[in-house]
Amino acid sequence: MHAHFDCPKCLKNDDVEIGSTTSTIACRHCGWTKAVDERVYSADCPHHCLICGCDDLWRQKDFPPQLGLAIVATGIISSTIAVAYMQPTVALGILMAFALADMALFAVMSDALVCYRCHARYRGAVIGKEHPKFDLELNERYRQEAARMQKQAGQTSPR
Ligand SMILES: [Zn+2]
Ligand SMILES: [Zn+2]
Repeated sequence: MHAHFDCPKCLKNDDVEIGSTTSTIACRHCGWTKAVDERVYSADCPHHCLICGCDDLWRQKDFPPQLGLAIVATGIISSTIAVAYMQPTVALGILMAFALADMALFAVMSDALVCYRCHARYRGAVIGKEHPKFDLELNERYRQEAARMQKQAGQTSPR
């Protein structure tokens, strides 16, 4: 499994490979470490966030948005060219083909787990059915919590 996270200490992002023998996660930039709890991580699937310990992880298609956009853009451009050459049927066909390609790609893409609180991403995990899809309400709760903490930090630290 591969984890992509923002280091809680130096806030830089880092990647780590986590296997069954991994006992700690470390930041390459500042030396921050966190022990990996075996109970938290079993059968190649994190039950909690390994970075911040948050219980809530949501399942996301591991699909780079840029790639999806690139496919759609290419489809639109080629169909526009076909329209310019007075080939509306060809234009429609091209659009349909690209839409299908987009859907097919989406279907074969594996899932990633994302932490609501620290937004760490876990790729290549064996994701069980217990992990739900994105919940807007839950996300809002974490967003408000983060905003509150930020406000508190701003009040306590002297400027
Ligand atoms: Zn760091
Ligand atoms: Zn987290």
